[in-house]
Amino acid sequence: MVLKRRSFTGRYYFYKLFKKEYHRYMFPKVFPHVKGLLHFDESAKETFAGGKPIGAVVHYTADGDAAAGAASLVAAGLGYHLIVAKDGSVYQMTSLDRKVWHAGKAAWRGHSPNQTCLAVALVSWGFLRPSPGDAYRTYLGTLVVPGAVAWRTDNRFGIVQPWDAATPAQTSALENILQRCLDLGMDPDMICGHDECALPPGRKMDPGGVLPYTMADLRKRLKDDRQGNTQGKDGSSV
Ligand SMILES: [Zn+2]
Repeated sequence: MVLKRRSFTGRYYFYKLFKKEYHRYMFPKVFPHVKGLLHFDESAKETFAGGKPIGAVVHYTADGDAAAGAASLVAAGLGYHLIVAKDGSVYQMTSLDRKVWHAGKAAWRGHSPNQTCLAVALVSWGFLRPSPGDAYRTYLGTLVVPGAVAWRTDNRFGIVQPWDAATPAQTSALENILQRCLDLGMDPDMICGHDECALPPGRKMDPGGVLPYTMADLRKRLKDDRQGNTQGKDGSSV
């Protein structure tokens, strides 16, 4: 009798554990290629409805490095899920199944990005202002000498200005993160830039000209890569 009772208790315990932790199996808690955690905290954060995000918003940090970007966000009660440093290293701030406040007032395809989307941020000052002597000023007015400056449009309003451009390591890390999201069932059309979803339109500039392509191009690129990955040699879907 004692053995039977023990066995029942054990099964019930695992049932409870599995039920409680179920959402963690639907979407991973930690990004597999994460290099480190920054202000990692999930204690007071709600889990996404259905246990996983249905989209992703691309941001830039408007700061010079990942740690500074994370610290200023936490101080403001905000957060990102993942931050991609200039060298392509990925840092994580929150479990990928938890909500963070990152988009302010925003909407994308009928959804609230804060309630439904992962936040992925590239370390970048964003748009810059030319300053004498090959230097640039950030939006804060501080002088910086960024690694790579690109004169590009903001991809939305056609304003050409200098940007603290994403490095190739950053764009490839970003694409890897987003491909991983698609592997886990995310719809590529649910991936957007903060500049695309912020309300009212024009309120936010990120990622804008930090990326070498528009967000629409990025969505197409992700879809094309995916098509290539899932097609056999004869072009048939496998
Ligand atoms: Zn943003």
